[in-house]
Amino acid sequence: MECEGVGLHSGAPVHLRILPARAGSGIVFRRVDLDGFEVEAVSRNVARVSYATSLMKKGVLISTTEHLLSAFIGTGIDNAIVELDNLELPILDGSAWPFVELIRKAGIRKQRRPRTYLRIRRELELREGNKSIAIYPADTYSVSYTINFPHPLIGKETFRVELANGNYLREIALARTFGSRQDEQTLRNMGLIRGVSRENCIVLTRNGVENPPLRFADEFVRHKVLDLIGDLALLGKQILGNVVADRAGHAMHTALVSRLLRDRTLWEETTVDEDRHEVPLTVHAAAGQLA
Ligand SMILES: [Zn+2]
Repeated sequence: MECEGVGLHSGAPVHLRILPARAGSGIVFRRVDLDGFEVEAVSRNVARVSYATSLMKKGVLISTTEHLLSAFIGTGIDNAIVELDNLELPILDGSAWPFVELIRKAGIRKQRRPRTYLRIRRELELREGNKSIAIYPADTYSVSYTINFPHPLIGKETFRVELANGNYLREIALARTFGSRQDEQTLRNMGLIRGVSRENCIVLTRNGVENPPLRFADEFVRHKVLDLIGDLALLGKQILGNVVADRAGHAMHTALVSRLLRDRTLWEETTVDEDRHEVPLTVHAAAGQLA
């Protein structure tokens, strides 16, 4: 089960392969170009957070993790090894869908050990000017996101989803990342978006979209939900809680994760016996090329 592509920000070519992992091991990235050095997808390894979320351990970088981690949450994968031979994950089509297809092609195996959830017990709210993010106690995992983007196609959009019954696959996984022609040169000057193309990003012009059609009329806010789910995966556990974000971004998403983990009175670990971990199944048998 593998794919190849380029990193959105680095433009670097990369091969990615997803392998099964034992129960309780979580998601672990492995740099096969650096003697198999491993970086766990957990909050303590979060490094640079600006236009994407990056992990770093002992100077080894794993960049733009959010779309794949989002796909793992959306498909119920708790444990996997992700091998890559460069510093950034491939952007593929700009959504989580190609990763979902990779995972589904390999198949998913339930593990015997019961899954551990992180159940929110008390609310936590973070605010920064007119941006905010909060998490509240709930029996399921749901996300609500509001954006307010000064563009005739976007403006104020809110999207709410409960991550159950295939909702992630139907409503979130296909939503692509987006950027505007006006911001392009600024980002390039910052050394970012070297791998961007009309095939991996919705390109906004002053009044419309350069590469239609959109997959959803409100694809933009749905992609923010996708990013948020991927960043909250750095908690290392499936969540039972309701997340509400307003104009937040990767920095606020990951701040919520580290604040939660620091205060053990905000949550508890709980297991649900009838539930089982899921891991990708026999990856080598289903090797396929994507992107
Ligand atoms: Zn994204």
